[in-house]
Amino acid sequence: MNKPVIGNDIEELKQAIRDVPDFPKKGIIFKDITPLLSQPELFRKIIDLLADRYRSRKIDKIIAIEARGFILGAALAYRLRTGFVPIRKKNKLPWKVFSAAYALEYGQDSLEVHQDALQSHEKVLIIDDVLATGGTVSAVSELIGKLGAEVIEVACLIELTFLNGREKLGQTPVFSLIQY
Ligand code: AMP
Repeated sequence: MNKPVIGNDIEELKQAIRDVPDFPKKGIIFKDITPLLSQPELFRKIIDLLADRYRSRKIDKIIAIEARGFILGAALAYRLRTGFVPIRKKNKLPWKVFSAAYALEYGQDSLEVHQDALQSHEKVLIIDDVLATGGTVSAVSELIGKLGAEVIEVACLIELTFLNGREKLGQTPVFSLIQY
């Protein structure tokens, strides 16, 4: 049975997220999820909440973004019995890649995926820890588009709603467990 996401759960999760001002540069309040991940019952809770949401969605693969997205994505893929596809920063993947440039809340880079990571009929979920401006996830969507797969939803642990990241994603549905 699906466990409802209740306010108390979310409050407990929020209390375990540490705000680090001026990291990695001045003006950014970094949402540090390591205190949350280090508590077994909280780590389990976020994966359970996400698994409950997606269990019946017939997802073929979880697409996770380096590096913190891997932590959530790998646990969720195991739980949902899906495949796992890593999206990595440039020059990290060893095989043929597609690339997409992206702008971060604090910097710029490009992301890559293996050209044979997905098949065109596959349904995928994109996951990352924080949705900020949405630049990262829209670059990932572009990569998935090049592979011809279908993005069912974008899931993130934390959404910084004041940055309007979901607007950048157009029609793609976005789900976040925690909003600021
Ligand atoms: P964006 O492309 O602006 O949506 O930024 C999302 C990516 O940057 C995610 O991979 C996050 O891990 C990271 N990120 C951006 N802003 C923050 C923040 N305030 N705290 C922690 N991570 C962040």
